[in-house]
Amino acid sequence: MTLDYEFLSPQRIVFGWGRRRELGDIAKTLGQRAFVVLGSRTLERNGSWAELRQRLSDGGITTELLPILSREPTIADVDSVTSYLRSQRAGPGDFLLAIGGGASIDLAKAAAALMTNIHGHSIRDFLEGVGRSLQVTIPPLPMLAMPTTGGTGTEATKNAVISVDRPPVKKSIRSPMMVPRVVLVDPELAVSVSPETTAWTGMDAITQLIESYISKNAKPIPQALAIHGLTLALPWIRTAVRDGASRLAREAMAHAALLSGMALANSGLGFAHGVAAALGVFADVPHGLACAMMLPVALRVNRAIAEKPLAELARAALPPALRSDTEAADALIREIHSLCHDLNVPTRLQQVGVRPEQLGDLVAGSRGNSMNGNPCQLNDAELHTILEAML
Ligand SMILES: [Zn+2]
Repeated sequence: MTLDYEFLSPQRIVFGWGRRRELGDIAKTLGQRAFVVLGSRTLERNGSWAELRQRLSDGGITTELLPILSREPTIADVDSVTSYLRSQRAGPGDFLLAIGGGASIDLAKAAAALMTNIHGHSIRDFLEGVGRSLQVTIPPLPMLAMPTTGGTGTEATKNAVISVDRPPVKKSIRSPMMVPRVVLVDPELAVSVSPETTAWTGMDAITQLIESYISKNAKPIPQALAIHGLTLALPWIRTAVRDGASRLAREAMAHAALLSGMALANSGLGFAHGVAAALGVFADVPHGLACAMMLPVALRVNRAIAEKPLAELARAALPPALRSDTEAADALIREIHSLCHDLNVPTRLQQVGVRPEQLGDLVAGSRGNSMNGNPCQLNDAELHTILEAML
């Protein structure tokens, strides 16, 4: 790797247990009116939203709650939020606040971009390979992201993933200007996240850390972050799933997820994310679960070509000193297998509803930015054989 890179990250990251209490002070640096995207009704039911609204009000900020979305945003979702924002004359002095998982943050990122880039009428115009291929040329409305599920890392990335129905695909609107301005991570907010969601989002973070590290487009700063993230996530994910109230485990997983987002935003991903996108579209498999299922396969596929970087990760993240690259890479692969076993990750595609006749769609749907970054280049026939063996 030659030293020649760029590095993109949020302007300000505030991380810490209980630091949501500073939301009012932090948010008022962005504006006086917040349009809020909540990622789940749980945040309303368990009182989290009422508390946060009070913090905003203490900071002199008025709030407008947008419709709650607990699935990945569609073109219609983004367009309807944007037209509502326009009806409210959202502009200077306003900002978007997304609280929740990746879906709510993506919805806010896309709407914030569409609000200022009025040369497009619909989010469809900006989605890669779908519409008119318009570019984001004007800085979006400012945005504050508060991730609560300890997973996707989308709070630190420059794209938003939007579901397209015809043809059924997930596509991104992407621009360096779309990285949220401020990120506030309070790991205490994840205490109410279910064990299942904790497991899948945690596996998503681990997959992002590994895939970005071994990517063809890996870069030095994100690699340093990925190593740090993996040294936290591997030892703590089981505890976070078993004991959701564990402060140390929640902190470790929230931090690992944030680092994974910064790593993937700069280095890209690989095989597991390529196939996970297709599994989401064609079989509605939750993103983190799809990543967890595909990570062991991704490691096997890339084992030969990426032995050295896998060994580097193993030496950093696993306890005993490992001598050769081969021993170290093997140890990491064993650890991921045992993790998938302990977290009951399905190994067969039919267990998550994939039908044999969907293999062709899955192969075609796996092609994209992520797969392009995979160290080992696979043709369609090879990919088909790998997925067929997982049926
Ligand atoms: Zn992911």
